[in-house]
Amino acid sequence: MESKYVYNFDEGNKDMKSLLGGKGANLAEMTNIGLPVPPGFTITTKACNDYYDNEEVIREDIVKEIESHLVDLEIKLNKKLGGNKNPLLLSVRSGAVFSMPGMMDTILNLGLNDISVVALSEATGNERFAYDSYRRFIQMFSDVAMGIPKYKFENALDKIKENKEYKFDTDLTSDDLKELIKEYKKIYIKEIKQEFPQDPKEQLMLAIKAVFKSWNNPRARIYRKLNDIPNNLGTAVNIQSMVFGNMGETSGTGVAFTRNPSTGENKLFGEFLLNAQGEDVVAGIRTPKDISYLKDLMPNAFNQFVKITSILENHYKDMQDIEFTIENEKLYILQTRNGKRTAKAAINVAVDLVNENIIDEKEAIMRIDPKQLDQLLHPSFEDASLKEAKIIAKGLPASPGASSGKVYFNAQDVVEAANRGEEAILVRLETSPEDIEGMVSAQGILTARGGMTSHAAVVARGMGKCCVAGCPEIKVDEINKEIKIEDLVIREGEYISLDGSTGHVYLGAVNKTEVSLTGNFEKLMDWADKYKTLMIRTNADNPKDAATAIKFKAEGIGLCRTEHMFFEEDRIPAVREMILSKTLEQRLRALEKLLPMQRKDFFEIFKVMDGRSVNIRLLDPPLHEFLPHDDETIKELSKIMDIDLNEIKRRIANLEEFNPMLGHRGCRLAITFPEIYNMQAKAIIQGAIEVAKQGVKVYPEIMIPLVGEAKELKTIKDMVKETIDNIISEEDVTIDYTIGTMIEVPRACLTADEIAEEADFFSFGTNDLTQMTFGYSRDDAGKFLGEYVNKEILPKDPFEVLDQTGVGKLIDIAIKLGKLVNKDIKLGICGEHGGEPSSVEFCYKMGLNYVSCSPFRVPIARLAAAQAHIKSLV
Ligand code: ADP
Ligand code: MG
Ligand code: MG
Repeated sequence: MESKYVYNFDEGNKDMKSLLGGKGANLAEMTNIGLPVPPGFTITTKACNDYYDNEEVIREDIVKEIESHLVDLEIKLNKKLGGNKNPLLLSVRSGAVFSMPGMMDTILNLGLNDISVVALSEATGNERFAYDSYRRFIQMFSDVAMGIPKYKFENALDKIKENKEYKFDTDLTSDDLKELIKEYKKIYIKEIKQEFPQDPKEQLMLAIKAVFKSWNNPRARIYRKLNDIPNNLGTAVNIQSMVFGNMGETSGTGVAFTRNPSTGENKLFGEFLLNAQGEDVVAGIRTPKDISYLKDLMPNAFNQFVKITSILENHYKDMQDIEFTIENEKLYILQTRNGKRTAKAAINVAVDLVNENIIDEKEAIMRIDPKQLDQLLHPSFEDASLKEAKIIAKGLPASPGASSGKVYFNAQDVVEAANRGEEAILVRLETSPEDIEGMVSAQGILTARGGMTSHAAVVARGMGKCCVAGCPEIKVDEINKEIKIEDLVIREGEYISLDGSTGHVYLGAVNKTEVSLTGNFEKLMDWADKYKTLMIRTNADNPKDAATAIKFKAEGIGLCRTEHMFFEEDRIPAVREMILSKTLEQRLRALEKLLPMQRKDFFEIFKVMDGRSVNIRLLDPPLHEFLPHDDETIKELSKIMDIDLNEIKRRIANLEEFNPMLGHRGCRLAITFPEIYNMQAKAIIQGAIEVAKQGVKVYPEIMIPLVGEAKELKTIKDMVKETIDNIISEEDVTIDYTIGTMIEVPRACLTADEIAEEADFFSFGTNDLTQMTFGYSRDDAGKFLGEYVNKEILPKDPFEVLDQTGVGKLIDIAIKLGKLVNKDIKLGICGEHGGEPSSVEFCYKMGLNYVSCSPFRVPIARLAAAQAHIKSLV
């Protein structure tokens, strides 16, 4: 079969997007359902790819095909391109498969030259209009096709307006426009060293090439990257006969949404401009009018438009974004597409469309981008205040949300400020576990160093606290308590604002709006729960986070880290005593002090979780992290412990490690100091017994971290089990507990059959697993991963989006091996990936029982899990 590269609008339809581009497919669809679309044809994306494969030349047979469609169009309209009577004018419009609004180029009024402009003026009896169109064409063609900077033409235009003391472009007379055209041609010659092309065919081919080229302009590339659009799709080119909104006061052009794109309200929302063309509406040269003004001005055209908007919405079953032009009171539709919208509007529109019986619940669920829900789960800045605010730096959007407060440079100052009732922002070079209290009390956190999974980022996301991390342009001076950004100095107590969703840092305070999971949002989430099969748990270390997660309908705790509990003011001395003890007796004494406090922690969490499973990870970080670094505290400690100062210092130095992440941590701690895990196991089971006695159901899961060898797990499990069973046997209760492991070391995946012999469950700790699979340090990888993604060496930061190819393969191996030995083994994931939609889908496909994510991502995971299941049904 001969291949076809050009389609008339009446030959295509809306399902041909990959060939005709979104704009072309929808122009075809609208033509076929009888809407007033100016006729034309589409050159396919295949032709664009052919052009790139052919060293950027349009092949002769494709040129022929274009010309033959042009002839058909001329016959149909009884007009001729460049004709000296009734000339045909064209628009040449880009149109990619996925809409990339404003990213690529369009040329209007093509076909005008010194002869056809006279003919146009005679045919329409409107000289001013003809010359206005000609100057617009020269301007657009020169910019888009020839790359002459726009401002050169704009300057010439401004100069005439200034000389004549005109306020608007529309004040120019036809004589002014003729003079302006002369100026424009001069600019063209000066820049290109050739006359402005008078041959319309030449104009057309140059314009088509320009659109093909615009596929690869930098802003289009960036847009594709941000929106995950492949680079090899190419753009189609739509050649369409022109209609004119610039014919005078009975003409105009506009854009409208069938519903409000920021709230979703079911009310036509749009703007139009009289006597205008193309981009005038958005360019802000004159202020457009609300669409409702059209009602009185041109009632027929308005009513027809309203009717068409509802035809289109019903046809596409979604909110439409429609471009239109009115030429002498006659309405033309130039484009329709599914309208871009905020998360709030997306939810309201989807739920309303279900209520209006236009789509079903499943379709509504599929319509919402889970990632977009983030906007609704954190307070955000008011649009108006944001516009006024000054951006002073940009870092990584580490944890979404919006916060304003006075800057403080250490945890203690933040806590004190919060106690005084101030709003405080913790600013650090980077955070460490010692900063926890400051992080809790802060409105937001800003760090100069660190990546998306740095301590600050992970902990802040867990708390649902706004955090901007890895912001290299700010210089943080923790000693003198100031931030420097070039010449700007911000001192302790001065206000800044952080947007954790964009990474922007603002000077001063910015006003905020609040969060709620109610109304249509709640309704949509209830639908999602109907269709999801994967359980959604949460990562929560304290009763407050657990309660937040339950509000968002978490079905259990998938990861309760115990180390943060150790940092609280009342217990850190005992923790340090335990770590620095010389003898077992000393250590046991210190642990004895910690036991009742840990018991209370677990008791409270179990109580809040009220019968839902709670997975507790025993102590994981290297012990050195708990030790003090400042002389003052070390001195105090030597007094409390009654040990010589130098001896204490020596013991602290002894615990230092070159590579703590790969050092003495996780289950390795319990192999050398079994009594630590023993105390924790005791605390867990005693806490469980206490709540059980109050009639609350309790399902503790005890998780041993960092296992890489089955014997590690067996040794620890046997010990923990003995401790627990002894306690239970003395009480008149039964507690359903399980013991399992976090799978986070590659060797654990590879020997999962042996490990499964000892484990009731596997929970994939994909933060560490990613770190150890790639060999990238979580805390340092931020420095180079950006470049990896820019250079397309990696598709995404693997700490953010699970690497299915490598890490995923290890998970797959672990599941298969694990199930060989224990077919009922319970499987979950508790890394940061548990709340990332594409990773959630992967977990669903792998057959995990649950994913666990920070409380504020629970709704995102619920929606992603529902979508994964619905997708698998078709
Ligand atoms: P974008 O994809 O950037 O929206 P378009 O191809 O839609 O670019 O063109 C931009 C504008 O040019 C349209 O909104 C419309 O106002 C104007 N335009 C495009 N084609 C025509 C045409 N055939 N007649 C009149 N105006 C047109
Ligand atoms: Mg458009
Ligand atoms: Mg880990």
